[in-house]
Amino acid sequence: ARGGRDAPSGAAPAPRQASGGAGVPGVRHIIAVASGKGGVGKSTTAANIALAFRAQGLRVGLMDADVYGPSVPTLFGLHEKPEVEGKMMKPLEAHGLKIMSIGFLVEAGTAMIWRGPMVMSALTQMLTEVSWGELDVLVVDMPPGTGDAQLTMAQRVKLSGAVIVSTPQDLALADARRGVAMFERVDVPILGIVENMSYYCCPNCGHRAEVFGHGGARAEAALMKTPFLGEIPLAMEIRATSDAGAPIVAQEPKSEHAKAYGRIAAQVWSRLTSGAPGRAAPRIVIER
Ligand code: ADP
Repeated sequence: ARGGRDAPSGAAPAPRQASGGAGVPGVRHIIAVASGKGGVGKSTTAANIALAFRAQGLRVGLMDADVYGPSVPTLFGLHEKPEVEGKMMKPLEAHGLKIMSIGFLVEAGTAMIWRGPMVMSALTQMLTEVSWGELDVLVVDMPPGTGDAQLTMAQRVKLSGAVIVSTPQDLALADARRGVAMFERVDVPILGIVENMSYYCCPNCGHRAEVFGHGGARAEAALMKTPFLGEIPLAMEIRATSDAGAPIVAQEPKSEHAKAYGRIAAQVWSRLTSGAPGRAAPRIVIER
């Protein structure tokens, strides 16, 4: 039964999907997890949010479109090649997620030069030539940055919304701002901003250090009138579980960190199903 999946907002209409591109039959929502630049923890966040959706009873796919540095194979310890049935590739499975990564298809360590159109066609193939089956949500780990390739993707894929990941320091936030602007240009609603590596809590003495400053993303979100989804600390366990092939939400589902990802996922899902995603382009109303 699918009854519980719509809770708490019932059978509300799905938000507007303004981008006109490739959708996937059977997939209710495709969301992008994006960042203005690399290294801010976008893939880690995408994987843990996907796992948190799963823990909340949703049917979830994770598509690693980060062609410049696919990390999903490492995050989930998956290194086999997907099976091919007819024209379709079967996604791999781990912790209840259906997973596809460009890293399953390209030998590790191969230097690839991706031009914009190649990124687009790889992405389209991963969307339409993979047997995703019935999914409530497909989380797409986007390539970092806001160049042409990303813009085209945001435009051509039927996205229900985008989650922007940033670290708190100004330079990363300037990039995050560009990310928000890019999605808005192509009319993709911003579901919210996550502040990753928000602070560091010393496991020995409990001292909290704000390595990159703290709260920058929350302030930036307020400025941009975009929802702030939450803070994830810089934590050894988050890095270690990811490197070990079972991200923290799978490995330690009851931990504080897993709960933080759970709260973010719940907010994203309620925005997706309430028909009121974070910040959408204004609607023009003609009064008679
Ligand atoms: P991106 O996708 O933005 O390039 P990754 O998710 O690959 O970034 O993260 C970069 C590195 O930082 C990885 O080694 C990852 O394990 C680590 N990392 C990400 N988020 C955290 C966090 N909250 N705490 C500790 N390490 C983190």
